[in-house]
Amino acid sequence: MDNGRSAIKIASVAMDSMHRIGIDLGGTKTEVALLSPDGAVLKRDRRPTPAEQGYEAILDTVTDLVAETVSSLKEDYTIGIGIPGIVDARTELVLNANTTIMIGHPLRKDLEARLKRQIRVQNDANCFALAEAQQGAGRNYGMIFGVIMGTGCGGGIVIDKKLHGGLHGIAGEWGHVSIDPNGPQCWCGNRGCIETFISGGGLQKRFESMYGEKKTVEQIVASARSGAAPEQEFFDRFLEDFGRALGGLISILDPDAIILGGGLSNLVELYEEGRKRTLKYTFHKNAATPILRNELGDSAGVFGAAHLWS
Ligand SMILES: [Zn+2]
Repeated sequence: MDNGRSAIKIASVAMDSMHRIGIDLGGTKTEVALLSPDGAVLKRDRRPTPAEQGYEAILDTVTDLVAETVSSLKEDYTIGIGIPGIVDARTELVLNANTTIMIGHPLRKDLEARLKRQIRVQNDANCFALAEAQQGAGRNYGMIFGVIMGTGCGGGIVIDKKLHGGLHGIAGEWGHVSIDPNGPQCWCGNRGCIETFISGGGLQKRFESMYGEKKTVEQIVASARSGAAPEQEFFDRFLEDFGRALGGLISILDPDAIILGGGLSNLVELYEEGRKRTLKYTFHKNAATPILRNELGDSAGVFGAAHLWS
């Protein structure tokens, strides 16, 4: 049964005349932004995500943030939420969330019952891609692939400003393509996923397992840039792995642009040498695919969530 469904407000007016609330429900913080119909940011707020206090506490936090955000708002509004996990497009249950307390819950339905209106929930990498396509580095391109390279590797596909979620909601999850059956164990259950080779978390683990020394990505990169061994060779291999992974992706999707986000997107090498290696592995020897730095930074999550109703 759809408890409380009858009380849920169904938005019926044109979406582009609505105010939009975007919520980035991250592992450590929950952030909200209120956008006017023309996209101006009217309000922003954030608070810690009470992941240790359980699922209900997370629902309470989102409900409170929305109540505070709309307390003086007279106009109608939509709500979109980005989460660090996948919403199974068929069962609507949360899968593979790094805020593990949310796994297996029907987050959308639970929040709709509390907020008394329809909401949309999406993976945070999809929100990143959507925000960059709508108002960031991808705004002048038709199809973009948004890549997140942080602790893990996420991604999202946006075609003509609309998100492509896929049959199961996993479209764009390039980080979990296995490229080496003998590679490192990935948390997803497979071995040798792209994420284990080129994410921040993967690089740190690999460096330690190869050289027996714990180093942050920043330390590895700084040493590599100064020509130190073995970091230089390790970093060169990272660029090659990055190129192989993205080159294969271009051969499948052939997007108009790739936009990089997450902590590793600050590495200038990715846009020159990394792009060269990428094009080497693309099934077109003179591919022109731009690899662009994101423009919205950490704000892409909340903006993308707000744009889920665009
Ligand atoms: Zn994996």
